[in-house]
Amino acid sequence: MKHIKNARTDFPMFSGDKPPIYLDSAATAQKPSAVIDAVSEFYRTANANPYRGVYGLSEQVTERYEHARQTVASFINAEPSEVIFTRGTTEGVNFIADVWASKVVGPGDEILLTRAEHHANLLPWQRVAERTGAKLRFIELDTNTFTLQYPGDQPLITEKTKVVAVTAHSNVLGSVWESNDVLKQLINDAHAVGARVVLDCAQLIPYERIDVWDLNVDFAVFSGHKMLAPTGVGVLYIKKELHDAVEPYQLGGSMVYSAGYEKSTWDKAPQKFEAGTPPVAQAIGLEAAITYLNQFKPEDMRVHHARLTNLFLDGLAKIEGVRVLGNEERMRREGHLVSFNIDGVHAHDIASFLGMQGIAVRAGHHCAQPLAEYLGVVASVRASFYLYTTETEVEALLSGLQKAQQHLKR
Ligand code: PMP
Repeated sequence: MKHIKNARTDFPMFSGDKPPIYLDSAATAQKPSAVIDAVSEFYRTANANPYRGVYGLSEQVTERYEHARQTVASFINAEPSEVIFTRGTTEGVNFIADVWASKVVGPGDEILLTRAEHHANLLPWQRVAERTGAKLRFIELDTNTFTLQYPGDQPLITEKTKVVAVTAHSNVLGSVWESNDVLKQLINDAHAVGARVVLDCAQLIPYERIDVWDLNVDFAVFSGHKMLAPTGVGVLYIKKELHDAVEPYQLGGSMVYSAGYEKSTWDKAPQKFEAGTPPVAQAIGLEAAITYLNQFKPEDMRVHHARLTNLFLDGLAKIEGVRVLGNEERMRREGHLVSFNIDGVHAHDIASFLGMQGIAVRAGHHCAQPLAEYLGVVASVRASFYLYTTETEVEALLSGLQKAQQHLKR
């Protein structure tokens, strides 16, 4: 096992004389040499189109691509055929919403979401509702504890519920479930009425191992780029028993069993769900990212992020007028991102001020505009940490915030 303290030097982004203070990993993570080299090595020595060639190079590429699929499958405890490579979380949700949900949902049916969804897990469901006459319902948030009110006073899951699509970890608030058991209960309740569950794991998978089999979730989506892998690759997990019920998202090469001028049939999963030339180099990069992450004990990762989060929250508490959006107790235990506002200072002004000092944080509604409105804020600042983040960087952010407050307060 590798010690987390030794991670930072694996990231070329931080090797210069004046490396950026990058505290926006929840948007996208920096890449270790192991990932950059794997992608570069692939293009230098192995590039060919998989599946199509009967020559050695193409066969090797097919093998490597399928090996990457196996690595992802063992990472989430799925079978390889249940792992579909996509462009990312957004594509995964659109995939399921378009080709599966639009078919199984009808007028008067319900789709249950939470108030904390990223646009990627909200807008596709709005379209399903518009097209089918279904209704969107929401699990409310307790705005004091920032946890989801599930189970609430009224039953949220009924015979009308066909889809439950929820985030496993909000990109604004951090953890939103009271515990993993509550999430499991939601999945059980959904299954009890025949509904299916889509889990948005974009913010969870880079930090916590998830076991799709144990959770018994039906669909899970995540993006490679937030977990050290290249952009342009993500994963849609589709439970095996749903492989026949889900139609292909796109039609074209590589997914065909037999094609005719009038009608065609397609292959079994996963090929059925991956039309066209797949993102081979990116999948190999994702495999390298998982192999890299697997070197660290999950507990060490948790402790590292909790230490940084505690340091940051302690510092924030000393700055006047700070309001943290999220459950501090849970953040201190298992957080990796903190969203907040400072009274009288606009979030964008804070982020621009910090940006001028070489500190990268995010400001805005973080692609969760309805959530910002629900919480009564226009925007917030978000700092997020990853395994390469140092305490010195968090301290630099805190002192930057002190200065920002003095300069910007109206
Ligand atoms: N869901 C959550 C919770 C996210 O944080 C993000 C990325 N900000 C997405 C979905 C969308 O991911 P991507 O842009 O990689 O498709």
